[in-house]
Amino acid sequence: MEKKPRVPVYIQILAGAILGVICGLILPEYSPFGGFLGTLFLRLLKMLIIPLIFSSIVMGVVSTSSASSFGRLGLKTLVYYISTSLLAILTGQLFVNLLQPGVGTHLHAAAQVKSTTTFSLKDIFLNMVPDNIFSAMASGDVLPIIFFALLAGFFIGVLGQKQRQTLTDLMDAIYQLMMKITGFVILLAPVGIFGLIYKTVASTGTAVFGNLMFYFFTVLAGLVVHFFVTLPLLLHLFTRQNPYRFMKQMIAPLVTAFSTSSSSATLPLTIETIETEAGVSNRVAGFVLPLGATINMDGTALYECAAVIFIAQAYGYHLSMGAQVVVVVTALLVSIGAAGIPMAGLVMMTVILNAVHLPLEGVGLIIAVDRFLDMFRTATNVLSDSTGAKIIDYSEQKLLSRQGASPQGEIATPTP
Ligand code: ASP
Repeated sequence: MEKKPRVPVYIQILAGAILGVICGLILPEYSPFGGFLGTLFLRLLKMLIIPLIFSSIVMGVVSTSSASSFGRLGLKTLVYYISTSLLAILTGQLFVNLLQPGVGTHLHAAAQVKSTTTFSLKDIFLNMVPDNIFSAMASGDVLPIIFFALLAGFFIGVLGQKQRQTLTDLMDAIYQLMMKITGFVILLAPVGIFGLIYKTVASTGTAVFGNLMFYFFTVLAGLVVHFFVTLPLLLHLFTRQNPYRFMKQMIAPLVTAFSTSSSSATLPLTIETIETEAGVSNRVAGFVLPLGATINMDGTALYECAAVIFIAQAYGYHLSMGAQVVVVVTALLVSIGAAGIPMAGLVMMTVILNAVHLPLEGVGLIIAVDRFLDMFRTATNVLSDSTGAKIIDYSEQKLLSRQGASPQGEIATPTP
């Protein structure tokens, strides 16, 4: 039997994070050492992303026995992603309109924004199909890899028995190997998280808040409500389980998301933890989570909406109801299109500013606190993906047990 570590991993991780804040505040001169540890940890995580996403999606599709159950899983996932992102956006919209943090502020843009990112639904679809799968893998382009993996998983299922078995065994072996390496990387998470937070606190400091304090806390309030109320309520409503226990089980990926500000880099930990700690099946986790890390970003969506309305308030622009609807819809699209990397949301904001004819320099107003907000919104993004996987897994288990079947390819058992 495996020996349990004396101090639970989540305590080690929280201790690493707190120590990082303390060191960042009192010993900023040694922060390059923290930066070194943090970057090492980040690279270890990133190293796993591509083979893990590919093998987990292929295995997820291969173990989904029929096209109709695959369609059902896809539909549930999309409905969950779109509805929680919309709930998040509306929460952000409510807070920023209620508290009006931008009204009467005298802010100056901290940076000139030149780029006019253009972006549409058409772009999302086009970018989904790789023109070269190897270059997509080499540049870490997740959406085209997901697309190719879905096709590969589906067509492995229609091959002859011998080829099907060979490829399934190969993918399963790669997948199991990635999970083992991820398990090892998790052991290093407390040190890596310590380093990342140490460096961020030391290099960003707290002085940047200045008159952005009110804006910062308005967005944070929205994120807190979505994180601690909306998502837990949904989990409880659909699974009747204790959502805070689930959060505790998911503490390693949540704190990692917070300290790396990257849902993609956190993905290996999210998949490993949700299967081993929260008992979600590989079939669901392998499909829902990689997709979620790329297209489901509740925290980003909430922040986009709140930040754009804040910018309008700060410039003294009145946004009509119609314009606010445009903000809501574009914030949804932008959150789908944003990559799971640090500060992707800030870059994508120019798309919404363009759509409602606000000055692009508005991005410069909020840049100073963006690094901190990114930590909170990324943790929210990862909690939403995980909650979705848990809810969908629960509903799939119920369906399968009603049909008297057990899904193939499961490697984890559901929690009682
Ligand atoms: N950093 C976020 C993520 O990786 C994206 C963003 O909002 O900038 O999920």
